[in-house]
Parts: sequence; C-alpha cells; structure tokens
Amino acid sequence: MNWSIRTRLTIWNTAVTATIIMSMGIVVYFSLAKALLTQVDAVLLFEYRETVERLERLGAHEELGGVPEAFLEEFQLRVTDPSGRIRMESPNLRGEFWKLPVVQTISRNPILATEDVGTLGEQRTIAGRVGGSHEGWNVQIASSLAEYRREMLSLRNTLLLLFPFGLFISLVAGHGLAGRALKPVERITQAAQSISANNLDERIQTDRSDDELGRLAATLNAMIDRLASSLEATRRFTADASHELMTPLAQIRTEAEVALQAERSAKHYTHVLHSIVEEVERLTRLANQLLALANKDAEIDNATIESFSLRTIICAAVSAAGNDASAAGINVTIDDFVDVTLSHSADRLRLVLDNIIRNGILYNRPEGQVTIQIRRLKQYAIIAIEDTGTGIPPDQLPLIFDRFYRVDKARSRRTGGIGLGLSIARAAVETMGGRIEVESEVGQGSTFRI
Ligand code: ADP
Repeated sequence: MNWSIRTRLTIWNTAVTATIIMSMGIVVYFSLAKALLTQVDAVLLFEYRETVERLERLGAHEELGGVPEAFLEEFQLRVTDPSGRIRMESPNLRGEFWKLPVVQTISRNPILATEDVGTLGEQRTIAGRVGGSHEGWNVQIASSLAEYRREMLSLRNTLLLLFPFGLFISLVAGHGLAGRALKPVERITQAAQSISANNLDERIQTDRSDDELGRLAATLNAMIDRLASSLEATRRFTADASHELMTPLAQIRTEAEVALQAERSAKHYTHVLHSIVEEVERLTRLANQLLALANKDAEIDNATIESFSLRTIICAAVSAAGNDASAAGINVTIDDFVDVTLSHSADRLRLVLDNIIRNGILYNRPEGQVTIQIRRLKQYAIIAIEDTGTGIPPDQLPLIFDRFYRVDKARSRRTGGIGLGLSIARAAVETMGGRIEVESEVGQGSTFRI
C-alpha cells in the first residue's frame, strides 16, 4: 500500500507506544499482584507466630481458652492436637472442609498456599507444626483473598482503560509530530518546484544548515548550481555558434549586394559566385561540425567506464589519422613506451587523441613530424603529443582551449577548423579527472600533455 511517510511514521509510533504501554501494564500488574500477596503473607505469618508463641508459652495441661478476637472475623484459625482432634477453631470455619495437609515436621517455616475453602471462598492459608509444651500440635490460619482479588481487578480495569487512552494520545501526538518534522520537507519540495529554467538564480532557503534537511537543501542547491552553469554554457555556445554562422552569411549578403548595385562584367559575376560557393561550403562544414559536436557531447556524457590498454587506444588513433597524415606528408610516430592499463572511458580518450593528433597534422609544416610518448608518474599516465608545426604565440596559449577560438583565422578557414576541437578535448579530459596542458614555441612546434 502506498502510504505517506507521515502515516507510516504515525503507525510506527503508535505500534511502538502500544507495545511499551502493554509491556509496562503487564509488569506493573504482576509486580503489584506479587507485592500485595507478600503483604497478605506477612500478616498471616505474624498471626501464625503469635499463635504459636502463645501455645508454646502455655503449660502442657493449661486451658487453651477461647478463640482470640482476630480469628472471629478477619482470620480463620484451627488448632489440632497430635491425635487430629480439633482443639480450637474460628466459628466461621465450623463444618468447612479444609484440605490443607497437617504438617508432620517441626519447622521454623510454615507452609503457605492458596486454596478454596467451601463457602468462605478463596483463602490464603498458612500451616505449621508447633514445638515446646504443645509439641506436635498443628496450627492452620486462613485469610480471605477477596479484598486482594478486588484490588487486582480494579488495577486491571484501570490499566485496560489507560491502554486505549495512551494509544489515542500517542496517535494524535505522533501524527502531529510527524507533520511538524516533515513540514520543512514540504517547504523544500515547494521551493524546488517553483524553480525552473527561468529563475535558476533562485535557491532553496533554509535556516537548518547542519541537519539532514539542511544537507538536502544544500544538495539540491548544488544541483541547481550545476544546472545553471550548464544552461549558461549552452546559452553561450548557442550565441557563439550563431555568431560563427552570421559571419559567412553577412559576407555572402555583402558580396551579392555589391554585385547587384550596378551592371557588372561576366568575370565579376563568376568571381562573386565562386566566393559565395566558398562561403556556403564553409557554412556547410560549420553545420556538419556542430552536428558532430552535438553527437560527441552526447557520447562524452554517456561514455562507459572500462579497463583498456593505453597503447591500443593510441595505436588506433594513429592509424585512423594515417590518411590525413600521408596526404599532408606528415610522419606520425609512437615512441617506445611502457604500456599502462587505465580504468576510464576509452571513447573519451580516443576523442581527445583524435583532436590533438589531427591538429598536429593540420598545423604542421610539410615533411613535419608528430611524435607520441607515454610516461608513468606515480599513479598518473602522461601522454605527450609533440609536433614540429607552426607553434602558438605565447599570448594566445591560454585561449586556444576556448570554444570557437582560432589562432590564425585564415588558416583555420582553409583547414576547415572552427575552433572547437581543443575545447571538446579539455572537457573530456576534465570529465576523466585529468588535465591537459600545452607548451609551444612559434616556428618550432607544440607539445600537448594529457
Ligand atoms: P580547430 O578546429 O580550429 O583546429 P581547435 O580547438 O582544435 O580548433 O584549435 C584551436 C586553435 O588552436 C586552432 O585554430 C589553431 O590555431 C591552434 N592550434 C591547435 N593545435 C595546434 C598545434 N598543434 N599547432 C599550432 N596551433 C594549434
């Protein structure tokens, strides 16, 4: 059944309280029963000792006298001599069968028992054998348990009445407390519900910083932070991408407008059309790369973690770049290196390697060289990709990992680069918990280290 937390808490609370009340009731009932019976026994023992002492003090042939006053109403007494003859008996006892055994041995400890004594009802009895001047005589005393039973019954009724009352209080209090405890959760839920893409700068306010709910709010706030920055990055990317699309479009428009302003020669029109085709090709490349980027972003996000050999991945990347390298006359080599097994996403790393090797080939000189090395430093693997290319000016080095950043716009245009490769590579490396750095000297070449 799909009960709310509040209902479940209330039920649990009530069940626990019911068990506690019941156990306590049982303990109280039986402890009190025992205490009351001990009290009855103590009085009986007192009366018994009094009677025994009286008998023992009396001379062997002295008259016993009448039944003492205590045994006329409250207690019942029967004294028998060794031959079994009744020598003294309470008036109420007459004719009642008393099956309490006659005690045969003299002992300081008389026998206590509970039994039914005819019309007198349930009785607590004590019996023992006397010594001294009346040796061998038996003393039996009984006391009614009616009062004891009445008290126990009244106690039981009180406890039975208290039980539902206690349960009711626990139910109401439990329900109220659960409601109070869950109120902040309700507030957090409402606050989280009210935050959408349009007001991602709002946060869940809470005055509890250290407890579970404070931590829940902080976790949700951290999640909103991440959503906000990811949304912001997407917005920025869309703006940058639109800007990249606008440039060739503006160029096409300007060239066409200028051509339309006056009658031109056929040669001029051909030139304009060539230029437009070039821009359209650029737009097509851009659109294709944006599409590829969208797919790659999804790949980065969904990458699966596996154990793989670094050497295998590097060899695969080098062989994939083989065609481009030979077309450009670049020699790509792998330096001898120790192999390392990594537990990461092989796809992510491959994406990074593809981009950097491609750049090493693209921005290289004819007959140039791209060398890949791997080193091990403690628990890290360092992959170095070195080229003999154009190099990157020092002031541009920090910028090349930005999206849409290109050092030499004209050259990038020719190579078809739109300045996204390195930003994708850096994002992928950082997702893997790694770092990417570059060292470069203009005219000498660059080294990218992952
Ligand atoms: P692109 O798609 O333009 O190659 P990247 O993000 O891969 O974009 O690179 C950004 C810019 O950094 C490139 O336009 C290029 O100017 C420069 N660059 C990248 N790698 C190298 C390299 N190995 N040698 C020289 N310049 C490089």
